Amino acid sequence: MCVFCGIARGEKPAHVVLERDCCLAFLDVRPLFEGHCLLIPKDHYETLADVPDSLVTPLFSAARLLATAMERVLGAEGSFVAINNKVSQSVPHLHVHVVPRRRKDGLRGFFWPRTKYEDEHAMAEVAARLRDGVAGLAAADS
Ligand code: AMP
Repeated sequence: MCVFCGIARGEKPAHVVLERDCCLAFLDVRPLFEGHCLLIPKDHYETLADVPDSLVTPLFSAARLLATAMERVLGAEGSFVAINNKVSQSVPHLHVHVVPRRRKDGLRGFFWPRTKYEDEHAMAEVAARLRDGVAGLAAADS
């Protein structure tokens, strides 16, 4: 059984920090920093692409609330909000990492090595391909 489904159903232990009808947030057992939370939809969706529109707003408003609360009660100076989809995703139940940040906290390594575009033309070409992809998906949705 999916470990995060087990947590959502209350069948597996977790330090829950927020609960809504559709989603639940709990502490990551191996945090980047204390207070690192995982926010999940209670229903099983594997990646962001699988999440229905009706869930996007409540899920991200919960992420916003968590990020704000971290600054208020944990003394965080900011936060990092991220989702691994398929690649680097070790639990195949969508989860939003909401991580408290402080300046000079050493999290630079989380961003992995950066690359460079060969030139402006290469950059424009990738942007055009993505615009086409977005337009195609938006048209299919409407
Ligand atoms: P990712 O690598 O993006 O899929 O993140 C999965 C996260 O889930 C990791 O940061 C793990 O530490 C965390 N994790 C795995 N199992 C549990 C669990 N039972 N309770 C809390 N966090 C967990």
